[in-house]
Amino acid sequence: ESAAGPKRTSRVRVAVRLRPYMDKQDVKAEGPCVRGLDSRRLEIINWRNATETLQYEFDVFHGEQTTQREVFVESVKPILRHILTGQNASVFAYGPTGAGKTHTMLGTSEEPGVIPRAVREVFSLVRAQQAQQDGWEYAISMSYLEIYNEKVLDLLCPSTQDLPIREDKDHNILIPGLTSTTLTSFSDFHTHFLPASLNRTTASTKLNQRSSRSHAILLIKVVRTRHGPPHRQQTGKLYLVDLAGSEDNRRTGNQGIRLKESGAINLSLFTLSKVVDALNGAPGTRVPYRDSKLTRLLQDSLGGSAHSVMVTNVAPEYRYYFDTFTALNFAAKSKQI
Ligand code: ADP
Ligand code: MG
Repeated sequence: ESAAGPKRTSRVRVAVRLRPYMDKQDVKAEGPCVRGLDSRRLEIINWRNATETLQYEFDVFHGEQTTQREVFVESVKPILRHILTGQNASVFAYGPTGAGKTHTMLGTSEEPGVIPRAVREVFSLVRAQQAQQDGWEYAISMSYLEIYNEKVLDLLCPSTQDLPIREDKDHNILIPGLTSTTLTSFSDFHTHFLPASLNRTTASTKLNQRSSRSHAILLIKVVRTRHGPPHRQQTGKLYLVDLAGSEDNRRTGNQGIRLKESGAINLSLFTLSKVVDALNGAPGTRVPYRDSKLTRLLQDSLGGSAHSVMVTNVAPEYRYYFDTFTALNFAAKSKQI
């Protein structure tokens, strides 16, 4: 299926990942508020309210023992090959601050997350394709940006300029002025991405937890060209997104309806939940992409013919109960067909 192939409207695959306890003392003090039942189902437990339990089912449940590699192989790897043929894909980490989004996406040098593994895999897929000498030439590039307070900011070439989002006549979303860096190898990626992502992390502690309020968006682009005649070119985009903490929603009230009344609301996160609901809901539902910067930016890579997966990160500690409940309800709704 090529980029010009039949339009399908895809649903967003929803995975849930439970992180382990960070402090062994907590394990003794209280039972976990999330418990896996099998590879798809889990329950949340409200010990304080007559031990009320609620069960949920998702496309996949990654329990606390799940390794970084397993999350990648089961939830992300299968969608990557599509970006070599001009299709788009997106991976999101969603959930409350502290539940493991950055660990899932970025990880550590000992336990690399989705981002380094996905980029490595894209390089290896491209090399394998090139070895076939099928007439296509491939070029890989990256951009890295942040959406903070509905401003689109370049992280590769930091500036305070709010970049515009445009759509071309073929409905591709473009960001004029965004830095795009050509990558020739995985180590190239390391060279450009690591300093930029560290910048963001250090800045965040100074700027009042900015990282939990902004969306960090890495774009990996694969352009393939076949020199004619006829000359052909296809572009596939992969967005890897570490979303703002979902606990922001709580400040607007559970339903998040009185959006405008709260200065603290993260419009993009709120709209993302509506977009994902619309994509996974009844066919023909209007998808409100244009209501926020994040969803506008992702319009060509979320739904439509794109391949998307959302990893909802949750924590076992009781102090996260309410945020976990809210995040799972969003994710569960997202899963309905
Ligand atoms: P978030 O980005 O959602 O705010 P983090 O990824 O920073 O959360 O995770 C919070 C803490 O928990 C960090 O210290 C992180 O290293 C740790 N952590 C998260 N998930 C895991 C996991 N699956 N295994 C081990 N440690 C984890
Ligand atoms: Mg984080």
